[in-house]
Amino acid sequence: MASSEDTQNHHYQVVILGSGPAGLTAALYSARAGLQPLVLEGNQPGGQLTITTDVENFPGFPEGILGPELMDRMREQARRFGTEVKFEEAVEVDLTRRPFAVRTDEGSYLADSLIVATGASAKLLGLPSEEHLMGYGVSACATCDGFFFREKEIVVVGGGDSAMEEANYLTKFATKVTVIHRRSELRASKIMQERALKNPKVAFQWNSSVQEILGSREDGVHAVRLQDTQTGEESEFPTQGVFMAIGHSPNTQIFRDKLDMDAVGYIQVNPPATTTNVPGVFACGDAMDPSYRQAVTAAGTGCAAALDAERWLELQD
Ligand code: NAP
Repeated sequence: MASSEDTQNHHYQVVILGSGPAGLTAALYSARAGLQPLVLEGNQPGGQLTITTDVENFPGFPEGILGPELMDRMREQARRFGTEVKFEEAVEVDLTRRPFAVRTDEGSYLADSLIVATGASAKLLGLPSEEHLMGYGVSACATCDGFFFREKEIVVVGGGDSAMEEANYLTKFATKVTVIHRRSELRASKIMQERALKNPKVAFQWNSSVQEILGSREDGVHAVRLQDTQTGEESEFPTQGVFMAIGHSPNTQIFRDKLDMDAVGYIQVNPPATTTNVPGVFACGDAMDPSYRQAVTAAGTGCAAALDAERWLELQD
């Protein structure tokens, strides 16, 4: 990886990978502990909240706050105490040497301790209309955005536990929720299936794949174009909102074979600590959390990771 010349001015006590609520909270705490951390923001500065609109469930903002604004504020708060933030993405790490080495798309860094806060990404269908209307009637997070679909008819795409959970949750707001699934059999666990099948506000559209989401940023979504996966026939299905629930992937590819992770790729930590199997490497936020995936829980584990790193660094002296 990097030569010693490349890295001589790039040695930090704490390097944080990721700039969502977990990474920036870890930065805030590390900076206030005088550790002058470096945050490598990754390819989506601010993380998943930057693709939502209003955030109404982050404590302290009774009127809500726009996702991008919340993340700008977190970045400013971390910077105020001496965090250095670079818009670079880590592409390779060497955890076998001390200090650890991190290579980005632009440079190389050495880190006495490393905090992994690389988050997760909702899996998406990959349609241009889905990207264009994300936050304007298309969402990948029912807990974040369900409230905006009060008294509306909406669809959830997917057939696993997430889709069942989201569909049930969304019936608190929507008048009707239709689950669109590409097969005629659900992947979800029996108990989750039964709960959804019994819910009078949940309907199912079987053997259907979403080809396009129809609408505009001005007026929102008004329909999806479906294709019958058995006959190939296309039809329009009216809807005012689309929730994607086809799974999440943790952004942990560069740690494969370097950190212990579960089968899906979530980094394994030792709760309540954020320690990993490599001493000096800590993980927080959605990169290690398949269960809660909330901004506030990510911030909480980011704080824990900074405190764990600070304590670990003290023991190394
Ligand atoms: P999942 O189990 O992988 O299910 C994904 C679903 O989306 C599947 O039904 C799949 O269809 C569908 N899908 C995937 N790609 C698609 C595409 N390109 N187009 C259309 N449909 C697509 O993911 P998950 O539901 O997020 O669950 C992930 C894990 O978390 C599971 O282990 C689950 O048990 C767990 N979980 C548990 C709970 C709970 O217990 N409360 C809640 C949520 C999640 P196919 O079925 O045809 O493959």
